[in-house]
Amino acid sequence: MAEEKNYETVIIGAGPAGMTAALYASRAGLRTVMIDGTAPGGKLLKTYMVDNYPGVPSISGPDLAMQMYEQSVSFGAEFMFGEVESVNKNRQVVLKDGTILNAGSVIIATGAKERLLGIEGEQEAIGHGESFCAVCDAAFFRNKEVVVIGGGNSALEEAQFLTRFASRVTIIIRRDVFRASEKAQREVLENDKIEVIRHAVPKKILMEDGKVTGLVIHDLEDDLDSTIKCDGIFPFIGQIPETEFVKDLGILNDKGYIEADRRMRTAVPGILACGDAIDKDLRQIVTACGDGATAADEAFHFVTDL
Ligand code: NAP
Repeated sequence: MAEEKNYETVIIGAGPAGMTAALYASRAGLRTVMIDGTAPGGKLLKTYMVDNYPGVPSISGPDLAMQMYEQSVSFGAEFMFGEVESVNKNRQVVLKDGTILNAGSVIIATGAKERLLGIEGEQEAIGHGESFCAVCDAAFFRNKEVVVIGGGNSALEEAQFLTRFASRVTIIIRRDVFRASEKAQREVLENDKIEVIRHAVPKKILMEDGKVTGLVIHDLEDDLDSTIKCDGIFPFIGQIPETEFVKDLGILNDKGYIEADRRMRTAVPGILACGDAIDKDLRQIVTACGDGATAADEAFHFVTDL
């Protein structure tokens, strides 16, 4: 017999959006639980330094995650380890272990995961030289050469961090220009350990004895392939929303992001969404937190109106 529990708010995902929602919901007096399959913090756990969260001039991602977590549970919100299998229109959250959580309101804050390169050799390379987290793995590449793919804030910030360990970091971008902030671009271009290769895309990962040894890239201007010798490959080419478990609710757009209005309401009453999993323009820690606060406020009104 599956275990059943009742909550006024069930928050799925414990990144900045989910933790803020937990803080606001529990502080408003709702019986609240947040669920995550891993430690609370979301992408903060993979972020070296945060210097654009107001009021906190400079802090490591894991430290900010820990502070947010402690504050989020300080008003009574529970944290539950678990993986969500599905959510139905009656606001029942079903976990993979069979547990059923009956929720007055559900807040989806599952964020997004890293997009893979999708090139030859990648499946074998993941965990054997290909990594999606410089903060976690950079130390394995001390005095080694690594390649970073992508020109967004993630790629440039992680490349910068990798230079603390690697002897050389090559950034590959497919256009002439970066997508990242001016500050991140300036830091990268001023770093002697970083080289930038423009208008090129990765084509094939080379491996020997179970380890990455190089990357074949394709130059989009002269239509030629070349090989970069490297020990590590770090792709940061964007995100894929973690929304598969709600695909049957009819709340996703064609890219898999959740459609939510300015009150974070989805098309299903009582099911709200916030943070990187929703369709929006600016994905930042501070915007995720703002979304989380709004979602919790809406959850409060929905539950008290029931
Ligand atoms: P992003 O901004 O979408 O950048 C993705 C990068 O990958 C772009 O340079 C893109 O190239 C490239 N790319 C995409 N698909 C590719 C492919 N198949 N092959 C080669 N290159 C490919 O993603 P992100 O850096 O993960 O950032 C996500 C969001 O989080 C953004 O809103 C970002 O501002 C935010 N963020 C903020 C901070 C901060 O403020 N400190 C830190 C990290 C992330 P094109 O430009 O040519 O499309």
